[in-house]
Amino acid sequence: MRAAHGYAQQLLNALPEVPAYNHDKSAVSKLRTLALGRESHAIEQLIDRIDRSVVRPGLLPSHQGHLGYIPGGGIYASSLADYLAAVTNEYAGVRFVGPGSVEMEDLVLEWMAKLVGYPENADGNLASGGSIASLTAIVAAREAAGLRARDFERAVVYATPHIHQCVHKAIRVAGMGETVKRDVAVDDGFRLCTDSLSELVAEDRARGLRPWLVLGSAGTADTGAIDPLDRIADIAQREDLWFHVDAAYGGFFALLPEFRPALAGMERSDSVVLDPHKGMFLPYGTGAVLVRNRDALQDAHAYYASYLQDTVESEGGGRSPAAVSPELTKHFRALRVWLPLLLHGEEPFRACLREKLELAKYFQHEVKSLGFEVGPNLDLTVVTFRWIPESGSANAFNQALVEETHRDGRVFMSSTTVGGTFMLRMAALAFRTHLDTIDLAFEVLREAVDRLQAQPRWRLPAATSDHPGHG
Ligand SMILES: *Cc1c(COP(=O)(O)O)cnc(C)c1O
Repeated sequence: MRAAHGYAQQLLNALPEVPAYNHDKSAVSKLRTLALGRESHAIEQLIDRIDRSVVRPGLLPSHQGHLGYIPGGGIYASSLADYLAAVTNEYAGVRFVGPGSVEMEDLVLEWMAKLVGYPENADGNLASGGSIASLTAIVAAREAAGLRARDFERAVVYATPHIHQCVHKAIRVAGMGETVKRDVAVDDGFRLCTDSLSELVAEDRARGLRPWLVLGSAGTADTGAIDPLDRIADIAQREDLWFHVDAAYGGFFALLPEFRPALAGMERSDSVVLDPHKGMFLPYGTGAVLVRNRDALQDAHAYYASYLQDTVESEGGGRSPAAVSPELTKHFRALRVWLPLLLHGEEPFRACLREKLELAKYFQHEVKSLGFEVGPNLDLTVVTFRWIPESGSANAFNQALVEETHRDGRVFMSSTTVGGTFMLRMAALAFRTHLDTIDLAFEVLREAVDRLQAQPRWRLPAATSDHPGHG
C-alpha cells in the first residue's frame, strides 16, 4: 500500500513538469520481459514497470495538458472510492445481496435524472462508459417501439453526420444494422437542421417506411455543437419518434444554471446518456443512461434464472441493476460518483465547468489573433482551428502540424475532419487545466508552425486543391 500510494503521490506531484504526451512508445514492449505467473516480483519493481511501460508512453490522461478528444482528468476522491469498492468487493448487480450499493446507484441516478429534468419515475443505469450506456438505451428504444427483426429494414434512424459513432455501433450491436439511416442536414455551426429532419420524416412516411429514432447531441465530439434539442423534441413528439440525446460530453454543463437554456429540450427526450468520466472528471469507467419509460428499460433487459431465484423472491424493494442493463456482476460504480459529490458538494464541479467554458472562449479568441482560422461555433469547450499555409495543401499542412505538436508533447491536442476540412481541436475539460496550460498551448502551436514553415515542402505549389472554409 505504501509503495502504491507513494508512486501515486510522486506522479501527481510530477504532472506540472512532465509532458502530456510521450511520442516514444518503445518501453511498452518491455512489459513482455515479465512473464505472467512464472515468478514473483517485488512491488517496487512492478510499479517501476507500470510507470515506464504504461504510464509514460502515449498520453497521460490525468495531465493538465490533455486537451485532446474529450478529457476529464480523474479526480482523486474517485480513486479512493474505487479502492474501497475493490477492497470490500461490494456486489452492485443485484439488490438482494448488495442492497446498499444498489441503493447508492439509485441515489446517484436520481441526482442525474433531476439534473437532466426527467420525471421522478424515470429509470437508469451506471454502465462502464457512454458506449455501453448508449447500447442500453438503444435496446430500450427498440423494445418500446415493438420492433422485431422483420421490421428492421423499414425502421428509420435520423442523425447528423456528427453524432458519435458509438450510437451507430450500438444500433448494429443491437442487431439493427439493417435499419435505414438518414443524414440530417446541419447549419453552419454543425447543428441539426430541424427543417431537414421534418422533410426526411415526411418523405419516409410517404415511402411507407417507419420513422423510429432521432438522435440529438448535447455536444458533439467533433466541434462541441449542441443540437436544437427543444425543436427536435417537438418533431419527435409530433411524429412519435424515440428521441435519444447523446449528452456524454455536454450533459453535466446542466449543473450551471446559466447554461441550462442551451440544453433546453434535453428533459423532453426518451433517453439520455451522460459520461461522468468526462463532465464530472471521474477516472475512466463510468457512463450513465437514463430512460424516461422505465418499463421499456426492463422489457429490454430483465431476465430470470433459477440459480438467482432467491434474489428475485426477496426483492420487493425495487428492480436490480441487472434487470435494466446488459451486465450482471459489475464494478461498484456508484461509490466513485457518490463519494466526491458528498465530500466536495456540487460547487467545485460548477466552478471547474465554468472555468473550462472561459478557457475555451479565451483559446478561440487568442488562437485567432495568432493567425489561425477558427471554426464557426463554440457551443461548449471544443475549439476547432487550422493554419492556412502560404502555399500547398492546407489539409496536409494541418495534419503535419498536429503531428508536430505530438512530437513536442507538452500539451496534447487532437484533430478531426469536418466537411472535408482537416481541423485541429482543443478540448478544455480536464479539471487540472488552467490558464497557464492554455498559454503553453499557444507556445507549442507557434513553435510548431514556425518549424513546419521552415521546411521547404510547404513552399511548393499546391499539390491538391482542398478549398478553405468549412464546406
Ligand atoms: C465519449 C463520447 C461518447 C462515448 O462514450 P465512451 O464513454 O467513450 O464509451 C459518446 N458521445 C460523445 C459525444 C462522447 O464524447
